[in-house]
Amino acid sequence: SRHRKIAVVGARNVGKSSLTVQYVESHFVESYYPTIENQFTKQLVFGKANYTLEICDTAGQDEFSLINTKSLIGLKGVAIVYSCVNRASFEIVNLIRDKILDQLGLENIPTVVVANKIDLRENLGSASSSAVVSKAEGAALAKRLGAGFVESSAKLNVGVNDAVLQLLKRLEGQDLEG
Ligand code: GDP
Ligand code: MG
Repeated sequence: SRHRKIAVVGARNVGKSSLTVQYVESHFVESYYPTIENQFTKQLVFGKANYTLEICDTAGQDEFSLINTKSLIGLKGVAIVYSCVNRASFEIVNLIRDKILDQLGLENIPTVVVANKIDLRENLGSASSSAVVSKAEGAALAKRLGAGFVESSAKLNVGVNDAVLQLLKRLEGQDLEG
């Protein structure tokens, strides 16, 4: 099978671990070691090929997570997660992306921007506070970055598979030789 390594990055508390665990183990975790970087693997079929996806669920002491130098080796794509009910986490997406490209020494890397916690945004309704990030804002940012965009809820298992598929599509577009 084809081996692909991706990383999940973003601000603290946006749901990186919840999304990863929901994707790999199909359940929602209320809390997950916030400061430990965890590696997961998942087998899947994409197109007509079997894939082994290695997922690095990053963590940081800082306001956002970066990837350990060791975990950077062979990295093919990143999911940058923000919370759609936390504008600060949205506003650092750009910076996080720049830092990763810097770490990798690359101009570009296949990316999907994931707007998580949409279940909470829906609860807030239309009388939403300025902390709330709309779908249009998220999509515009992703477009500027040349990235895919998915809205998700790790809690309700919405958009989780789609985020991975979007990333794989971008990744395989660049890297077709297997
Ligand atoms: P991380 O620091 O980015 O890895 O964030 P976690 O995955 O640890 O999640 C932080 C908090 O947000 C935890 O209390 C999760 O249960 C909660 N959480 C994560 N995803 C969702 C979601 O989609 N909806 C809701 N309502 N809560 C979420
Ligand atoms: Mg975490």
